[in-house]
Order: sequence, then structure tokens, then C-alpha cells
Amino acid sequence: MELDLIGILNNNGASLKVDGTVSFENMEFSGTEYKFSAPLSIQGKIANVSGVLEFSAHVTGSADTFCDRCTKPIGIEIDYEFNETLVQADTEVEDADDVLVLDESVINVDDIALNNFLTNCSLQHLCKPDCKGLCQVCGADKNTEKCSCEENVTDPRLDVLNHLFKD
Ligand SMILES: [Zn+2]
Ligand SMILES: [Zn+2]
Repeated sequence: MELDLIGILNNNGASLKVDGTVSFENMEFSGTEYKFSAPLSIQGKIANVSGVLEFSAHVTGSADTFCDRCTKPIGIEIDYEFNETLVQADTEVEDADDVLVLDESVINVDDIALNNFLTNCSLQHLCKPDCKGLCQVCGADKNTEKCSCEENVTDPRLDVLNHLFKD
């Protein structure tokens, strides 16, 4: 979604309601795949507060990813809020790192929402909180199978120690 802020850009106290959807491309982020089969809802507003535009929004929806432990496909709920400060290129700001400088009056809401998704998204996604994961030897799903190798697994580093102590 693109929004033209021209109406509130130079109008202290004015605000613009944001109510619609944003679409994210399927992506991989820090080793996790995300698939978005439907656009996400976004609700919020952009308010001109003494010449600075304060964008606050709430994004909700769902995505498909994989369990970090057993790799089973899972659906996750997306629900986050963000605040973004937008300023015009000629505005003097104290900390330029915290603001988004506008080159033009039109903003791409999808891009802003996506950047905030990446900073908000949880680093771990599990099919269930106590997922047992996969056997590191045979790859069996330990939630549903009991493999025989499990008992005999030793840490190779411990093997080295065992040898040392034997001598
Ligand atoms: Zn799992
Ligand atoms: Zn196994």
C-alpha cells in the first residue's frame, strides 16, 4: 500500500488514518523461511506532531514457516505494533538514526511494515513448546517415533576424554 502524505505534511495537528493491508514476499530471514499466503491487515495512523510525522500501526495476520526443531510445516500468528518517525528531508533532527527521512510525500507502507516485522519477529518458531525435535543420528521425529539409536548417542568429545582416562 502506498500513501500520499501531502495533505498532512505541512499541517501541524493533522492526521491520516491507516486501514488496509500490506503484502510481504515469501522470504528467508536469519535461517527461517516465511511464506505469506495472504496479505496482512494494518491499522494505525500517521499524525503530524509539530512538523514530525508519527506513524503508529498494528499489523496482524498469519504466515507459514517450519518448526525450528523438527522442521514440520507450521502456521504462525503475526501480531505486532510499531512506531516510526517520518521527517521531511530538510527537517533538523537530533538523532537521524531513529527516523525515516522522506524523499517524497508518498510512502510505501509495505516496506515500513516489513522492516518492522523483521525487527519484531520472534527468533524461534516451534510446532509446540515442548517439541522434542529430530534424532541427531537417524533423523527420526522424536515426537512420534522412538528410535533405538537414542540411548547410545555419546558426545564425540566425551569419547576422547574416556580414552584419556582409560590409559
Ligand atoms: Zn517441532
Ligand atoms: Zn535415532
